[in-house]
Amino acid sequence: MCIAYKEFSSQREPVSYRKMNADSITPGVTPNDPIATFKLVLVGDGGTGKTTFVKRHLTGEFEKRYLATLGVEVHPLVFYTNRGPIRFNVWDTAGQEKFGGLRDGYYIQGQCAIIMFDVTSRVTYKNVPNWHRDLVRVCESIPIVLCGNKVDIKERKVKAKTITFHRKKNLQYYDISAKSNYNFEKPFLWLARKLCGDAEMNFVEMPALKPPEVHMDPNLQKQYETELQEAQNTALPEDEDDI
Ligand code: GDP
Ligand code: MG
Repeated sequence: MCIAYKEFSSQREPVSYRKMNADSITPGVTPNDPIATFKLVLVGDGGTGKTTFVKRHLTGEFEKRYLATLGVEVHPLVFYTNRGPIRFNVWDTAGQEKFGGLRDGYYIQGQCAIIMFDVTSRVTYKNVPNWHRDLVRVCESIPIVLCGNKVDIKERKVKAKTITFHRKKNLQYYDISAKSNYNFEKPFLWLARKLCGDAEMNFVEMPALKPPEVHMDPNLQKQYETELQEAQNTALPEDEDDI
């Protein structure tokens, strides 16, 4: 866990974060690595923007490793917090999810997760419970963020008021737009706070990101933020089947 995280200082003292098993495949992590490091499992339907999202972080993209045996790319994304640096080793598939579920090896020793869907595609939201089920079957109680991606696109299909799954399962939800960098850091900050049990943790600088390829319409952005706020304050519908 992240128990000694508060003691973290620039003197490079050992940090007692959760130790990886010697045989775990976690590139970039050695026993003396001073940076608290967590495996982050990225899941969701093919085409929802997972790869686009993880590639925004420039040093992570530069330092990524390919695990040929599993067909997985691991992007080490470092963020600088007021308690010291934290690294998420983000696991991204090479597209295997398009052909069904992922192998257990993808989930094993996952310490946190992002489930992604595409707000312009209802079926990708409909499949969120399946991804959640597969994930928690292997990683029982890890912090999970649900992200609705592509909110830059005007023809949004999955509106804030229909996004309720996270409230039933105690996940956090964010609207994001990988192509515009909108809310890029939000899921990571929420996970960092949960993993370290420190609600006061903040990022002290933004990582270098790829320049935006599209821009969010500021009026639309404001409208979505209001709608999300309103949706959070609305009582959950009684019992629709799991969505
Ligand atoms: P993956 O299969 O989940 O890894 O999805 P990809 O990252 O390959 O993205 C699928 C498609 O969605 C690509 O054509 C991306 O350019 C596009 N895409 C990803 N994120 C965004 C976004 O935030 N906005 C828009 N407009 N398109 C996106
Ligand atoms: Mg991909």
